[in-house]
Amino acid sequence: MLLDAGGNCVGFLMPAVRSSRELPSIYHPRLRKKNAPGFNWYYLHVTALNTAWIIQAIHEKGYVLGDIKPQNILVNDRALVAVIDTDSFQVRDSKTGKVYRCTVGSDGFTPVELLGKDFSTTDQTEICDRFRLAVLIHYLLFGYHPFSGEWTGAGESPDQTELIRKGLWYDGNNSLIRPSQTTIPLDVVHPEIKRLFLKCFNDGHSSPKLRPTAEDWHNVLQVAVNDLTICGKVDSHHHSRSYGKCYWCERKAKLGVDIFPGATVESITTVSPKVFVADDQDCTQVSQLSLNSLALTNKKWKTASIVGITCILVLTAITLGGQLLSPVNSRAAVRNSGVMMALAAGITGFITSHYLQKLPNTHPAKKKGVTNSIVGIACALAVVAIVFVGSLLSPVNSRAAVRNSGVIMALAAGITGFITSHHLQKLKIKP
Ligand SMILES: [Zn+2]
Repeated sequence: MLLDAGGNCVGFLMPAVRSSRELPSIYHPRLRKKNAPGFNWYYLHVTALNTAWIIQAIHEKGYVLGDIKPQNILVNDRALVAVIDTDSFQVRDSKTGKVYRCTVGSDGFTPVELLGKDFSTTDQTEICDRFRLAVLIHYLLFGYHPFSGEWTGAGESPDQTELIRKGLWYDGNNSLIRPSQTTIPLDVVHPEIKRLFLKCFNDGHSSPKLRPTAEDWHNVLQVAVNDLTICGKVDSHHHSRSYGKCYWCERKAKLGVDIFPGATVESITTVSPKVFVADDQDCTQVSQLSLNSLALTNKKWKTASIVGITCILVLTAITLGGQLLSPVNSRAAVRNSGVMMALAAGITGFITSHYLQKLPNTHPAKKKGVTNSIVGIACALAVVAIVFVGSLLSPVNSRAAVRNSGVIMALAAGITGFITSHHLQKLKIKP
């Protein structure tokens, strides 16, 4: 938790989300082929499982996500999931009971009971999220929205919002939407997954509270993941044992399309989700869970530090070598050495300062880092000045003075390097 000088909460630190992509990149067959060809149906199941798990954890804390949509969920190569855009969560202040509402929603993810409502005056419950989660899981396992298919009614098909309002989806009771030729039958998923989809979109249409909870999805997806098996023909095909055969091979033979073409999969895993809670703290609102503020990694810092220090040492070596090789009587060489030293100090200063600027203002190390960077650079410059003046004052014909200047330069570089490196170590962001 970050506090300002007056002890007020101004935010908090959390791990950066790295190397992750938005969900459409993995469930949309064309995007998946381009961006993540190794992500097969097993991976998609685990992503769905981890998504349900994280949403379950958020619900248990009393929050409503409100704006669940594929672009707000990031997934990495290990199928670990992160929820972003959390500033739109609906939050209830545990002390005053005041509700900070979610005022945004996304087409296709708004449940029937919220259609046409003014979000700024409507309190939501996690039951609204249950519909959104089911749509999201459907996207992950099938690649498209459940309220889509072939319209069999009169005239043009109503838009998706209208279909949701009327409860018309491809496996609905007496639905005017039926599966199209490319629709993947609901039977290919584990029977328990199918049951939850039917319960959510059929029973849950008229009685929203009957929709499966995030915990229900979590439990059932766990069973479904364990039920998956690899097809004997294509190593990237995974199918439910309960379906009895490889649907993807069957589909390829029927449609000539394979949405999971052969490729190897990354090692993937599940992990207990972490929810950062502000309601125990003296804060009236959940601070923004900014994912970008700490994007600056330790790795980058180390690289910059190494580049800066190497820079100084190389220039020092060049200067020192150059002086020893220069004519004995050479005041100019001493001056040049001063110029090069100043250059080295300048480059280090620039690199250090450049990366310090990128650190968020709220970062506790920033002020200290800047101070120490200035001290380090001032140190280097002072030594440079002393050497420079000393060299000018030394006898004209003095190889020894040149050598001494080299030694002092190396010392200056060493001190700067030590100070920079010492303080860069302290910038390490602890999880
Ligand atoms: Zn197969």
